[in-house]
Amino acid sequence: MGRLDGKNCIVTGAAGGIGLETAILFAQNGASVMMSDVNTGQLEIALAKAKKLVPGARIESHQADVSVEPEVENLVAALDSWGGVDVIFNNAGIMHMDDGDAISCTEDVWDLTQKINVKGVWYGCKHAVLSFRKHNKKKASVINTASVVALVGSATAQVAYTASKGAVLAMTRELAMVHAREGFRFNSLCPAPLNTPLLQNFLGDDQAKRHRREIHFPTGRFGEAIEQAQMVVFLASDESSFVIGQEMIVDGGMTRAYVTPE
Ligand code: NAD
Repeated sequence: MGRLDGKNCIVTGAAGGIGLETAILFAQNGASVMMSDVNTGQLEIALAKAKKLVPGARIESHQADVSVEPEVENLVAALDSWGGVDVIFNNAGIMHMDDGDAISCTEDVWDLTQKINVKGVWYGCKHAVLSFRKHNKKKASVINTASVVALVGSATAQVAYTASKGAVLAMTRELAMVHAREGFRFNSLCPAPLNTPLLQNFLGDDQAKRHRREIHFPTGRFGEAIEQAQMVVFLASDESSFVIGQEMIVDGGMTRAYVTPE
């Protein structure tokens, strides 16, 4: 028996990082998985990898830009023939290279970041709820990816990104209250910095930039995407039936640290 047997799951941002690892783990736990991303080329490579790792599982792909509502609507509708959505992992997000502090962050960077990271999550929540109702679901789970920067301040400023993730936390908490009596659970995932392209491309070979962040981890290392995926499977499954409106922090102790080991 898989922990997600019979569940139809959408994963956005599934072409790499947390999204890809989660799609694979969902399928390994018995779910039918729709992998979605804006990047068609990477999505097809990710789909092939997932299918190879979990032969026989129902895994498909659907290209969508989460910041464009009709594309999200079509993505969710693609699961109508499967019996409707049970789980959506609204995980797609960006951290812009030119993000900065209140002065250096440009309006274009601000707007693009909010459009993808906040509006994209809102559209995913909205169309998932419409689908849950349409298919008369009595239980369903929405997981939205925020970040530890929604909880702790970062002196390496990325103000547009931080504000967007704070919005994800607040929105998720409120939707959790609104839909609790319908059986639709909403929770946020708060990852710490990870070994995924989103951060690693940003850090590149800059050892000083890297050390500035690693020093805050009691473990002395960044997290791995699979460590986030394990939490997402729990939130997607019925094992978390009484976990509602929470901020699930998967950070290797980073937000609990004062002085870390030398
Ligand atoms: P990633 O860059 O590996 O994956 C993000 C995916 O989102 C990419 O495949 C990208 O193509 C996709 N995407 C970007 N814009 C999109 C759009 N408009 N529509 C659909 N897809 C889009 O990064 P990741 O680390 O796996 O990040 C996943 C989530 O985790 C993001 O929301 C990110 O903000 C969050 N997060 C990451 C870290 C980290 O250190 N990597 C830490 C905290 C939170």
